[in-house]
Amino acid sequence: MKVFKFGGASVKDAASVKNVGTILSMFPDEKICVVVSAMGKTTNLLEKVTEAWVNQDVAVLELLSGIEQFHRSIAEELNDSGKLLIKQIMNEIRQLLQSAPPSYYDAAYDLIVSRGELLSTAIVSEYLNQSGIPNQMLDARKVIVTNEANRNARVSWKETTSRIVAAFDDSNPEQEALITITQGFIGSSVSGQPVTLGREGSDYSAAVFAFALDAGQMIIWKDVPGVFNADPRYFKDVVKLDRISYRDAIELAYFGASVIHPKTIQPLQNKNIPLYVKSFTDPGAEGTLIHQSTDAKSQIPSFISKPGQVLVSISPKDFSFVAEDGLHTIFGLLSHMGISINMMQNSAISFSICVDDHPDKIKRLFTALSGDFNVKYNRNLELVTIRYYNKKVIDKIVNKRAVLLEQKSRLTVQMVVEME
Ligand code: ADP
Ligand code: ASP
Ligand code: MG
Repeated sequence: MKVFKFGGASVKDAASVKNVGTILSMFPDEKICVVVSAMGKTTNLLEKVTEAWVNQDVAVLELLSGIEQFHRSIAEELNDSGKLLIKQIMNEIRQLLQSAPPSYYDAAYDLIVSRGELLSTAIVSEYLNQSGIPNQMLDARKVIVTNEANRNARVSWKETTSRIVAAFDDSNPEQEALITITQGFIGSSVSGQPVTLGREGSDYSAAVFAFALDAGQMIIWKDVPGVFNADPRYFKDVVKLDRISYRDAIELAYFGASVIHPKTIQPLQNKNIPLYVKSFTDPGAEGTLIHQSTDAKSQIPSFISKPGQVLVSISPKDFSFVAEDGLHTIFGLLSHMGISINMMQNSAISFSICVDDHPDKIKRLFTALSGDFNVKYNRNLELVTIRYYNKKVIDKIVNKRAVLLEQKSRLTVQMVVEME
């Protein structure tokens, strides 16, 4: 069994959907679970629909028509593949929009945004069936079971694994074809409500399927030839990494390398399933292999830049040490407000954190801290992470900018610097 993941860019128009067929036909007689994201920028647009619904903005119907038209025109170019299902899904959304949104924003979000993947798989599955690549569709909401945390649902592993295994069992009458098409990013909570697993979560969904199915390998098909030592959109002279360890991949993703969702590696590592990142425009090329490795030769310096950071320094008003109880209060607030720490450091009477600059959340944090703490902050910062660093690489990346905070471990240096 193989698990493939096709992201938004790989199904952004009719030609791309055809290309999915071309790739699948390179693997005849193989059992493949194909996890598909929403097409192109559909998820962003559905986020706008949610916002308009919650704000009772009349623009909501226009936004929805745009999404419908986009999918219909792709379907039309592909012999009307998925057209009926598109109509049905759009009708369901319209019906939802006529009712009052749930009072909890994130629940409204999941009701609407989860439909993007249903639209894309409707088209992909029917197109493939029409073009001689028989497949069945599996509704991911029936097998990916999670807690109730809308927009960031946690997978219930035991239940999810047993449902996936049952769905793929050869004796299951719905499992006729070798290829199964399913959705990334979405699932259902134990109470049966639709949920999403966090933006860019389809990579993670694919890893969940790979884990449950004991897959022989997983391939993520991308618009890049593999994992580079830096994001090719922002850095010149990048090099493709041919092989990297699970450990390196998880560190790079965790620090913000957006090529793979950070949660993807753990389920694969647990079952020692190799992960390939390959180009959907050059599917025969080698790509990058992420696997269990201690290969010292792969230690090429990698850089990750996270712009839009704010550095917050928190000091107790009474000049006391930032002791465990103070940290307890601060961590409790951060966790409650859903603010993740990208880097932290403490001195005797000050605790500094570097976090993504979401102005609303930051404002609420400051208000909550203002009773017991003095808070200072710097905005417009970038968090630079270099794995396998050396002085030359640091100098090149920092490029004479002021470094506000720095932390070095044996393999990784992180620096908060002013934006260029
Ligand atoms: P998908 O549609 O599969 O979710 P993404 O757009 O999320 O694809 O990821 C692919 C993009 O990730 C590439 O276009 C590239 O710009 C970016 N990227 C960021 N860091 C890296 C890296 N280290 N190596 C390769 N690509 C990277
Ligand atoms: N469609 C979702 C998103 O755009 C999930 C994914 O593509 O991985 O975030
Ligand atoms: Mg992605």
